[in-house]
Amino acid sequence: MHSLLKAGILAVLLITGMVSATPTSGLTQLEVPFGKWQSLIKSDPDQLLKILAAQPPMSGQTQVQYHLLKSQAYAALIMAEQSILEAQTGLALITPYQQPWLYHQLHLSMAFAQDLNGTPAKGLDKTNEAIVWAESHNHLPLLLEALMTRGLLLTSLSDYIAAMADLQRAYNLAPEHDAWVVKADLAGSIALVYEYRREDALALPYFAEAVEYYREQQSWISLSIYLYGLGRANKNTGNPELGRAQLQESADLSRRINDNQGVAYALKELAGLDWRSGKHELAKQSALQALVLFEQGQNAYMLLDSALLLSRIYLSEQQTKLATEYLQQARQTLNPDSMPLQEIALNEQAARIMAASGQYQQAYEALAQTNTKHQVLLAKQSTEQLHQLRSRYELEAQAQQNELLEAQNQLQLAQLANQQRSNRLLQVLFISLSFILCLLLILFHRQRLHKQALQQLADTDALTGLLNRRKTLELLQLQADLAKRHQVDFCVALVDLDHFKKINDSLGHQGGDQVLKHFAKLCTQTLRHTDIIGRIGGEEFLIALPHTNAEDAASLLERLRKRCEGIADIMQLDELQVSISIGLVSNKPPRSAIELLARADKILYSAKDAGRNRLVIDKAA
Ligand code: GH3
Ligand code: MG
Ligand code: MG
Repeated sequence: MHSLLKAGILAVLLITGMVSATPTSGLTQLEVPFGKWQSLIKSDPDQLLKILAAQPPMSGQTQVQYHLLKSQAYAALIMAEQSILEAQTGLALITPYQQPWLYHQLHLSMAFAQDLNGTPAKGLDKTNEAIVWAESHNHLPLLLEALMTRGLLLTSLSDYIAAMADLQRAYNLAPEHDAWVVKADLAGSIALVYEYRREDALALPYFAEAVEYYREQQSWISLSIYLYGLGRANKNTGNPELGRAQLQESADLSRRINDNQGVAYALKELAGLDWRSGKHELAKQSALQALVLFEQGQNAYMLLDSALLLSRIYLSEQQTKLATEYLQQARQTLNPDSMPLQEIALNEQAARIMAASGQYQQAYEALAQTNTKHQVLLAKQSTEQLHQLRSRYELEAQAQQNELLEAQNQLQLAQLANQQRSNRLLQVLFISLSFILCLLLILFHRQRLHKQALQQLADTDALTGLLNRRKTLELLQLQADLAKRHQVDFCVALVDLDHFKKINDSLGHQGGDQVLKHFAKLCTQTLRHTDIIGRIGGEEFLIALPHTNAEDAASLLERLRKRCEGIADIMQLDELQVSISIGLVSNKPPRSAIELLARADKILYSAKDAGRNRLVIDKAA
């Protein structure tokens, strides 16, 4: 039912071939007289076919233009098979390299006829090629024609969004007047998309735009086509009387130019209107006329529609026999593969006829079955459309999402690598620092031990382990000064082993050393650790006792002297005696270290003189 509209659109488009945009190799527009003849497609394609039939034989590109015009004229008259045949004949005479413009024109005409023929998908590839060529050669007329053709193919393929994109683009590019393709042509195509989507209210203003333009142009076939569209849209949007007037005008115009198919389309719509307003006889008459014309035009879809309409009219008059006959006629033209909706309509009509003849059970079952099929079909169609839209959206969204995720991933990987690197660096740094620290600690410790050992060596006497002379005198000086300043008790004793020469003589030098060692040991055991004990000569020792008065010092040293007598026993020296003489002085009255030492030495000699093995205390103390 929309084929007529498409044919009309083609007719307008063919005018575009008359003007060229840029010269390329081969033709870019029709030559005289084809250009002039082509305008007939818009007003009277049947007349054009007659003119062409009367032409003498042609050759070369003239012959190709001849076949192109024939193909386009047949398409305008909705004679798809003939149109395809003419296009193929034209294509066999050229190559796309010699005559690209003619090549694309022929393919566009063929695509259009294929759409009329119910195989719109076949024409898509070549239409795409035409668009690419027109774009790259800046050929606006061909671009507009190709965009419109693809828009119509996509409409038939139910891809209304893509169709609308092409048509809207062409609508924006097309001028309003005096050109090959004007906005009105695109308006008619856009209206067609809305009609397919059953959005008649939206289609109305676009059909109106096309009608207004072609009435002004006095292009009768185009006017009749868009009046048909406008009439149907008005009929479907609650304006049956306005619709009837427009459909009637469309039928009259078609009749005037011998466009029988155009007449049939309008009559079929008028029949429906008459039937609904109770004018049954008029309705039957119109429907029957339409049926005969569609039969002549081999228009299967419309033949089926008209027969079904007649069946319905007769059924509403309870004439089940005639209703069944027309239903049967409709069924003969049915191709279930390409006409699923029509099949459902026929099944519904069959069920109604059954119900009218009292076969209620069968009618109910048939209706139920049909209803289910219908729902499945509707669901399938809308699911497919939804799926198309969704998968397109999802693809885009997914691509964006993927890019984003990829970028985030890269960022995270880089951050992670950085983190790991700095972690490793920190670990190495930490370990190195710890190692260095340990090393330093060890070194420091060893250094301290070493220093201590050196100090020890420097300060002690190797044989006895007691302080040596230098250290002893140093400490004596210090303690003497402190005692003097703080006026505290301080005693100093000089100790000398008696007749040591004799000991050495009888025990040997080493034996003498052993005695010295024993004596040193006795000293450390007997005295406090704060006391100063040092070896200041061969067998001569100094003992300094801080914070100790003469009396306490005396008793302490006396005890030491006594214990020294036991050395001979410990060493089992038989007859030999070991003893010490001690000279003890105190800092009362206060004395310097040197004075103390000198005084102690003096007292010591007095102890020797007095017979040895004794402690002598300074009388001044
Ligand atoms: P007196 O009772 O008067 O002190 O008699 P004495 O023999 O102990 O005194 P003198 O000073 O004459 O002799 C000290 C001796 O001590 C001489 C020396 O050989 C010995 N002597 C000094 N230093 C050491 C030493 O390190 N080891 C040993 N075995 N003998 C030593
Ligand atoms: Mg001596
Ligand atoms: Mg001596």
